[in-house]
Amino acid sequence: AKSSGRSTYRFFEVDMDASILHRTLLEQRLRRAIENEEVKVHYQPILDMDTGRIAGFEGLARWSDSDFGDVPPMQFIPIAEDCGIISELTRHLLAQACSAARSWPDELYLSFNLSPVQLQDPALPTQIQTILDTAGYPADRLVLEITETSLVKNPESAKRILNELTKAGITIALDDFGAGHSSLSYLRDFPIKKVKIDKSFTERMLTDKQCAAIVEAVLVLSRGLDIDAVAEGVEQGEVHDALSSSGCHYGQGFLYAKAVSAEAAAELLNDQADG
Ligand code: C2E
Ligand code: CA
Ligand code: CA
Ligand code: CA
Repeated sequence: AKSSGRSTYRFFEVDMDASILHRTLLEQRLRRAIENEEVKVHYQPILDMDTGRIAGFEGLARWSDSDFGDVPPMQFIPIAEDCGIISELTRHLLAQACSAARSWPDELYLSFNLSPVQLQDPALPTQIQTILDTAGYPADRLVLEITETSLVKNPESAKRILNELTKAGITIALDDFGAGHSSLSYLRDFPIKKVKIDKSFTERMLTDKQCAAIVEAVLVLSRGLDIDAVAEGVEQGEVHDALSSSGCHYGQGFLYAKAVSAEAAAELLNDQADG
């Protein structure tokens, strides 16, 4: 028994070394990929459910490494946060996205994710304004998605930064709504104009009464507060129908489209203009 315990322990140790090595390598590769402009933004349509037309796109980071293959953002964004390069990565990606979005029709918006640490950085509003100016993209067509986590740690600093961004004409959306330490007071205390209903609720709303009730409640609440609601993770036609008849105006999910390259997004818009 003793020797088997020992070998398990050794196995664990070797395993851990391998994962630290893997991570260190990934971090090096990521830094280089940012420098070489190899991290790309893809664009997932957000649909107006009444008209079926594209109202905007969410920019999502994509990175494919020659050895590691496609590395999902859930893996490399936390690495960028931990090693202090998230701000640089965001600037790089936002610049890329704004220059793509500049050629979209005027009524469309670009939605872009911010990391929680960025809401602690007083330099953020100026940095974003510089990116918008350089790209020639208007602030009133930019939506910045933040999560509830970013508001918990240092609410005063977050509020100052969000107010400044709002004053510049940028719209703030609360992402993954309902998934974190949700507090309704956030909707009152911060300048939030959109909520994105987390996909854990939309996915299960046809089979789970509680999820359906939460979605309904968020829709009623957002109407009352004059906040736009966007349902995430719409995968089935039946979910689209249920959301639409509950008065949800915007939807995003694989039912409509996955995130696609800037070129493919432009083509989607072309098809829409033709048809
Ligand atoms: P998120 O902001 O909640 O983005 C939505 C995620 O859901 C995306 O995953 C998208 O591909 C996926 N998704 C969209 N529709 C569906 C659907 O119908 N079903 C399912 N199952 N999934 C759907 P992705 O691109 O892998 O991104 C994962 C997360 O990584 C994002 O979640 C966001 O938190 C983070 N992320 C991605 N790009 C960036 C970025 O540029 N900056 C920052 N800070 N975070 C990013
Ligand atoms: Ca998001
Ligand atoms: Ca989300
Ligand atoms: Ca998420």
